[in-house]
Amino acid sequence: MRIVLLGAPGSGKGTQAQRLQAKYGVPQVSSGDLLRDAVARGTELGLKAKSVMDSGQLVSDDIVLGLIRDRLRRPDAARGFILDGFPRNIDQANSLNALLKELGQPVDAVLQLDVRKETLVQRLAGRRTCPTCGSVYNVHSLPPGVSTCSKDGAQLYQRPDDKEDVVAKRLEVYATQTQPLIEHYSKLGQLRIVAGEGELDAVFERMEAAALTKPVPAEKVKVTTRKVRSTAAKKKKASPAKKATKARRKPARKAARKTAAKRTVRRKTVKRAAKRKTTRARRR
Ligand code: AMP
Repeated sequence: MRIVLLGAPGSGKGTQAQRLQAKYGVPQVSSGDLLRDAVARGTELGLKAKSVMDSGQLVSDDIVLGLIRDRLRRPDAARGFILDGFPRNIDQANSLNALLKELGQPVDAVLQLDVRKETLVQRLAGRRTCPTCGSVYNVHSLPPGVSTCSKDGAQLYQRPDDKEDVVAKRLEVYATQTQPLIEHYSKLGQLRIVAGEGELDAVFERMEAAALTKPVPAEKVKVTTRKVRSTAAKKKKASPAKKATKARRKPARKAARKTAAKRTVRRKTVKRAAKRKTTRARRR
């Protein structure tokens, strides 16, 4: 399984990537996590990236590409990968394409998690993250008073870039720089759009289905071409307007026939009643 996950911040890429990783044993490769790890370790690269990340902007392509290149070269990624958050613009997509060619690991599919903007804002502003294992929670779904991770008990925190003003910036950056990738991958025939709202399990099922569906090889696609009719044949065939009139006339005729039949029945009943009256009068 070699897939790229596209989607706005808060669309659930990370959550779904973790689930795919657990089920299929292929690593989630998240550019955001790689950057956050560099920040936490206080590396030179991390120091450079931190302020850019905190402002909701994109870190420079060469920094991110370097991290992704090193990560995809690790042995566990030889079995496949789930790319989460990379690429984020067209240049990164082209660099990724070149890197995967070099590694002999072409992408199987690009899945785009489709989520409405109001849902994204609600999810991002309410998001709380575990600093130890990276598990993600939301204040709207946590039981009242709970603020620790259910897996390791660590105190949950709000990522600096999940603060409301930064969220707005990240969504704007997504719209201008990342969204063009949807058309890019669609033109390449690799894009599959997955409805990203609703129950987590249901979204996961849709993700799996989209990830595992085999693309139809070009030679198996049956193309039917329309026969070109001669002008004489075209004239012979009734014009759509005439056809429509005919179609309209049909039910009218049917209705007229029905009314006539009803009238006949009524006439017969009246005649029969009159006859009965005359017979009765004669008997008297
Ligand atoms: P994420 O966890 O994917 O939402 O990423 C958090 C932040 O890391 C983003 O807002 C960017 O500042 C930075 N980042 C993550 N992935 C990339 C990328 N592919 N290119 C540039 N910056 C990135």
